[in-house]
Amino acid sequence: MNELILLIEDEAKIAKLARDYLEKGGYRTLTAADGLTGLAAFRRERPDLVVLDLNLPGMDGLDVSRAMRRESAVPIIMLTARAEETDRLIGLELGADDYITKPFSPRELVLRVKAVLRRVQGDNYTPGLIRLADLEIDTEGHRLLRAGEEIALSRLEFNLLTILARHPGQTFTRAQLLDRLHGVASVGYDRSIDAHIKNLRRKLEPNPADPRYVLTVYGIGYKFTDENQPQGEK
Ligand code: CA
Repeated sequence: MNELILLIEDEAKIAKLARDYLEKGGYRTLTAADGLTGLAAFRRERPDLVVLDLNLPGMDGLDVSRAMRRESAVPIIMLTARAEETDRLIGLELGADDYITKPFSPRELVLRVKAVLRRVQGDNYTPGLIRLADLEIDTEGHRLLRAGEEIALSRLEFNLLTILARHPGQTFTRAQLLDRLHGVASVGYDRSIDAHIKNLRRKLEPNPADPRYVLTVYGIGYKFTDENQPQGEK
């Protein structure tokens, strides 16, 4: 599964253009037209990167970015108007990773997204490849290797693993996992995720009764272990 980009922008034309280019660039996108909706989508979907317009109706971009920073290190790219030099500086101080001034070329946006993701994902990052502990997850070829041995997973199990492994140590609720698996908000089927996790563990874990990769967070959901943080080349 490709990275999910959350785009918070109230101007429909710009949002659509940016979304089209990001999708052409191989990203999944989610758009929100105001700050509160954007923040709710951020909490629900846990995107890999946020493109955030500074000037939004209601809750503005700075408040949105502040709220996100309180709970996450998600990379943020700010969209600013040229006149908003001070806001841009404040934005960077608040922890935005980059900014783009309007009007901008959508191609430029895709390049910046790519660059910021590469930066936060580290030097050993290869697009489409996640290396964690002794696992190698090829998200484009849909292959999983554990200590060099291929493990066959169903598409759903593979996607579930990818969602978790992209954010080691971050707990996902069952509802968040279901939303991301199916791409729509779902309610009332919370427990079906447990069956998928069980199947995934049966194939992935050397000892499914004592998992070392996909951990249960009691009363909340699941997370990928944050021990053995990304390891470089073997
Ligand atoms: Ca705006």
